[in-house]
Amino acid sequence: MLDTQSTKIYLDWAATAPLSSEAAEAMKPFLIPGCENLDYGANANSLHSSGRRAFACLEEARLSLARDLKASRPDEIIFTSGATEANNAALGGIVAAARKRAIQKGLKDFVPHIIVSEIEHDAVLAPAKTLASQGCEVSYLSPTRQGFIEVSTLEKALQENTVLVSIQHANNEIGSVQALAELTSLAHDAGALMHTDAVQALGKVTIDLASLGVDAASFSAHKIGGPKGVGCLYLKSGTAFKPLMQGGGQEFGKRSGTQNVCGAVGFAAACKAACVQQEEESRRLCALRDELYARLIALPHVYPSIDIPPQSIKHLPTIIPVCVDGLESETMILRLDMRGFEVSGGSACSVHSLEPSHVLKALNIPVNRALGSLRVSLGAYTEQKDILAFAEAFERCISER
Ligand code: PLP
Repeated sequence: MLDTQSTKIYLDWAATAPLSSEAAEAMKPFLIPGCENLDYGANANSLHSSGRRAFACLEEARLSLARDLKASRPDEIIFTSGATEANNAALGGIVAAARKRAIQKGLKDFVPHIIVSEIEHDAVLAPAKTLASQGCEVSYLSPTRQGFIEVSTLEKALQENTVLVSIQHANNEIGSVQALAELTSLAHDAGALMHTDAVQALGKVTIDLASLGVDAASFSAHKIGGPKGVGCLYLKSGTAFKPLMQGGGQEFGKRSGTQNVCGAVGFAAACKAACVQQEEESRRLCALRDELYARLIALPHVYPSIDIPPQSIKHLPTIIPVCVDGLESETMILRLDMRGFEVSGGSACSVHSLEPSHVLKALNIPVNRALGSLRVSLGAYTEQKDILAFAEAFERCISER
């Protein structure tokens, strides 16, 4: 029987990262039970002194995130329950505001058009589908074989009625990093707003929201060592937006609901640590990624889902996507798990589906190969000895066929 305490090697950081010591430390005061702790446990909207103290903690977290993400103002950071909510809010809220503006201008028959890429996370694709069912026009951009959205592809899709383009900063299955500044400036030239799902990019590539120029961006705490169930929507000052959540008007009227102060504080602490360490950590992980990628694709029956050139900065330093020809990914995941290695097959969210993921389909990877797709993802605790042990275990798992 496997002793998971001593032998487990976690290589599924793109699904979630373990809580960082910085986040745990920052959240400690919020987790003490009892009334004496109300300084930290109060509702941040209450007027009494405990409420004001909680509010101060929330605003400190907002300011810290705004600085680390290089937003221009702290009130551009709207706390949410995570990136799924932030993505839903961005797509739904920006399109609803565009519709309202058109009606105010007397354009009753205005049909808004939005553009998303085919390789977005479901948290973008599902709200895009809902908007389509509500009469919005939706265009889907095909990626190159390497998982990139080319500027010319976006250029061809832009229309007069395009109100929003949503393209992820980095992909959660294959790790391709998009040329977001160029795509954003093209969208703006056509009069459209730009949203990006930057969940996987945060902490792995430099994020500078002000110079990227995007109008909206989604982030999640748990991918960078923060707690689960908290994230934020960056909404550039002045961006027309109709809130999805109706209620008490918290978060500048853009996201009603009592704020998760403890989560926001943990998120800010994790983000600070991730941003401070990002350059050095990315260099370290890039070397590990390249070594593991080379070892895996040298094995029989193993193929790259996409080619990752050594030291590539157009790919996340943390994600190694490979396909095993003739073996289903579930089989490999379980065989590896038995040996103490934890990985995903494609994205964790589509784990119960026996179809190849929509991302691999968009890359035109042959079905039998895509069904054996695995996503190995690295993080702060990954060391070279883990990579070597994993490559060895991987080889043994394949030869068991
Ligand atoms: N977007 C991307 C690219 C992701 O990888 C994930 C997480 O799997 C999400 C959105 C959803 O984030 P959350 O878990 O915070 O809702």
